[in-house]
Amino acid sequence: MKYISTRGEAAPLSFTQTLLAGLAPDGGLYLPQDYPRLSQEEIAGFAGRSYAEVAEAVISPYVADEIAAPALRGMIEAAYASFRHPAVAPLAQLDDNLFTLELFHGPTLAFKDLAMQLLARLVEHALHARGQRATIVGATSGDTGAAAIEAFSGLRQVDVFILYPHGRVSEVQRRQMTTVGADNVHAIAIEGSFDDAQAAVKALFNNPPLREKLNLCGVNSINWARILAQTVYYFTSAVALGAPYRPVSFVTPTGNFGDVFAGWIAKRMGLPVDRLVIATNSNDILPRALASGAYALGEVRPTQSPSMDIQVSSNFERLLFEASGRDAPTIRAKMAQLAQSRSFDIDAGALNAIRADFDAFSVSEEQTSQEIARLWREARYLCDPHSAVGVSAARREALSRGARTPLVVLGTAHAAKFPDAIEAATGLRPELPPHLAGLMERPEHFSVLPNDQGEIERFIRAAVSGETGREPQKAAS
Ligand SMILES: *Cc1c(COP(=O)(O)O)cnc(C)c1O
Repeated sequence: MKYISTRGEAAPLSFTQTLLAGLAPDGGLYLPQDYPRLSQEEIAGFAGRSYAEVAEAVISPYVADEIAAPALRGMIEAAYASFRHPAVAPLAQLDDNLFTLELFHGPTLAFKDLAMQLLARLVEHALHARGQRATIVGATSGDTGAAAIEAFSGLRQVDVFILYPHGRVSEVQRRQMTTVGADNVHAIAIEGSFDDAQAAVKALFNNPPLREKLNLCGVNSINWARILAQTVYYFTSAVALGAPYRPVSFVTPTGNFGDVFAGWIAKRMGLPVDRLVIATNSNDILPRALASGAYALGEVRPTQSPSMDIQVSSNFERLLFEASGRDAPTIRAKMAQLAQSRSFDIDAGALNAIRADFDAFSVSEEQTSQEIARLWREARYLCDPHSAVGVSAARREALSRGARTPLVVLGTAHAAKFPDAIEAATGLRPELPPHLAGLMERPEHFSVLPNDQGEIERFIRAAVSGETGREPQKAAS
């Protein structure tokens, strides 16, 4: 299987090359040359199989013969053995025909673990086979960083640098990044916003000598292997509700468009998905784009669902590429326009293709709090704010389309990750699960750096070459 760039000016790569590259050198995102289709019998056969077995069936056609089957199986089994629920991603019923897919039973309590636990093992395996080391870099508004640090800590072939906005992540999120204590892990608090952190990471990749010298590897959701790993739970949950004989709709709380795009892939592979519903908080660029056809950047507004406080929804480029018939020159033109004037118009044909699969709703802060309170009152279910955005959108979808098919809301985080929002809505403060019990007492290690590219690069170079160790600091709060 070969992977091509959405901007059409990068050489096709193999699965492993794509895994290690992250962003394509032409600025585009990688996609497989085609999507393997699973037959109805194959999908029906997923019933009663373990999560790891389904994952192997869904993922292996994309890896083809690049990784030997027993090695791939071993990595998949190890990745999902770290989850604390035997089903890995269980369903819970919230209302008539309304379900939530709990994706927060992994080590860091957010859905990012489902992809990151596997990604880390794949990266380590690929580096080992090549006798290489790599430098993992990522920007995070909280959950990606925690998942990456947990998954990559202690691995011998990698150094990990995670940049997060100083003082702007929740205490649980920060402590998950700063208390791991592995020598190969560096949590860096940038004196700036998430956008500044992300811009700094992109600038590292856009520095070819540095990229090559440090063998940079990106773990944000532009990495194809993350999207691929996320297609698996669309299959397991749909089959549990009657697929392939009964269609299912999904509602996905969305920021960078990675998780919901994974659902589109599952549909392309043959899963009978009726609607894919994009649920956003008040950062509503996607619902506006689907309604008007204009993809226009606004200002980022902080909300109680911070992992979706995003304007530039990177993976939307992948959908646009597919919806416009894989027309790379068009994508290049649209992205150039976006960089220049902060907006572009989606062509009519592409917009129709997108609307054929997707609906989109934006959920206000008040609606989010009301939904958290309602779920606690009516179903005795504690729901984190991101997932609550999804449930609120699901109720609107059911009203506008009629509840023809089961609606599955992706439960993207554990309520205990965002205790303040839950307490404000329900009066109840959710407790961390037992495996994180000591989190609030463990010593923290992180470095505070100014929002300055030169300083960030110097820090990373020095740490990789072993010139400076980590400098333990006390948390400011
Ligand atoms: C990352 C994240 C999201 C958004 O996922 P995307 O793939 O960026 O759309 C939603 N909820 C939580 C809790 C997250 O951590």
